[in-house]
Amino acid sequence: MKYELVSGLETHVELATATKIFCSCTTAFGGAPNTHCCPVCTGQPGALPVLNKRVVEFAIRAGLALHCKINTVTHLDRKNYCYPDLPKAYQISQFDKPLCEHGYVELESGKKIGITRIHIEEDAGKLVHDRGFTFVDYNRGGVPLIEIVSEPDISSPEEAREYVEKLQLIMRYLAVSDCKMQEGSMRCDVNISLRPEGADYLGARTEIKNMNSMSFIEKAMEYEYSRQAEILSSGGKVEQATMRYDEHTGETYVMRTKEDAQDYRYFPEPDLPTIIIPEEEVQKAQASLPELPLEKLKRYRDMLQLSDHTARQLYKYKAVCDFFESCINSGASARNSANLITGAIYSRFATEEQKEKFSLPFDAAQFAELVKLLDSGKINPTLAQMTLSKMLTNGGKVSDYISTEDVKGVDEGELEKLCREAIAANPQAVADFKAGKEKAISALYGYIKRATQGKADIRAADAIIKRLL
Ligand SMILES: [Zn+2]
Repeated sequence: MKYELVSGLETHVELATATKIFCSCTTAFGGAPNTHCCPVCTGQPGALPVLNKRVVEFAIRAGLALHCKINTVTHLDRKNYCYPDLPKAYQISQFDKPLCEHGYVELESGKKIGITRIHIEEDAGKLVHDRGFTFVDYNRGGVPLIEIVSEPDISSPEEAREYVEKLQLIMRYLAVSDCKMQEGSMRCDVNISLRPEGADYLGARTEIKNMNSMSFIEKAMEYEYSRQAEILSSGGKVEQATMRYDEHTGETYVMRTKEDAQDYRYFPEPDLPTIIIPEEEVQKAQASLPELPLEKLKRYRDMLQLSDHTARQLYKYKAVCDFFESCINSGASARNSANLITGAIYSRFATEEQKEKFSLPFDAAQFAELVKLLDSGKINPTLAQMTLSKMLTNGGKVSDYISTEDVKGVDEGELEKLCREAIAANPQAVADFKAGKEKAISALYGYIKRATQGKADIRAADAIIKRLL
């Protein structure tokens, strides 16, 4: 029998607020263990939480970008469980009234992955296992999170990957999170069940916890699919369980059989008041949403006429998009700007993280100056590349590297003289060209480029040569 995969994801995203959700400790990643803490985030008796307003603002932005309805009257709840990374023995989260509900993420195929809910909550501390001991670091405790729960609409590992990539990009565009999976600021729990193809019920599901890489998500889903399919086709039953993925063996294994929500004994958090969000705040947030990734990708392709490949290389990085757009807004052509960014500039950045930051020793206005010289034919692509390369190494302005002399190029009379010289110096190439070998003419271009150190306008030279021949 063939089985179809049914999957939903719970994605935890750390919000990029400067301070924690219920105290004024920093949310900075790293730091010496237990130095970003206070009585509130370590759960000391009598310490009282105060909700960080920015957390609600960020979560609303995220919700609106994912097409959710915002619950303007809501509250926080206690989720009770005892574990050493949670000193209060409860996590402040949301249970029956999440901040955002009923949204979706659109995939490129047009398929929509439903978003059941988005709620705000605090992160727990971190356990560090070392030399036979377990240490606890509370720096992460109290860092604000949103948990984005999807509907079980995902039907393949590839769809799961695209869903996570799209979420990551949207959060980055909104600047509500850096979503660095390797640092844990974005992590996913993956629910998986199988059912016979065409069936309309849901099978027993397993949940793989804390996935921190896109490729692990895909691999774990593939493994779990085969594991469950094998059980089902041999007449067995899949046991509902919480699992871990071992990245070294590529296998999943059971951590515990699944607890139910009632095990957490949720109840409304008595130390925090009801959250009431004025309708105008929601409208303001809606109006301030930026262009979203998929819209941008389409615009780059359709309106700016960039190739799909180039458009994708740009839209993946928000900082690059901002730089590129400010460049074309000052009059530089989209095509030359995009080609220089994805060519010469990207070649200086070895990692995704560097492209993410896109820190350059010159600003978009200087870059636009260079591109405009290229657009107008005042400099040729070789000189543009050489200048850009110097600017990337030493910073500075275009005028530091290209003089008005350079930009003036070679005047018409001089150019014609050079063309005559080029023809005289390359009799074989001229003969070949006349015999129909179009490409032979490049020997003449080479002569002119060398003679003028790349300053001559080759298009003009081409016209002259063809006239002379
Ligand atoms: Zn604190």
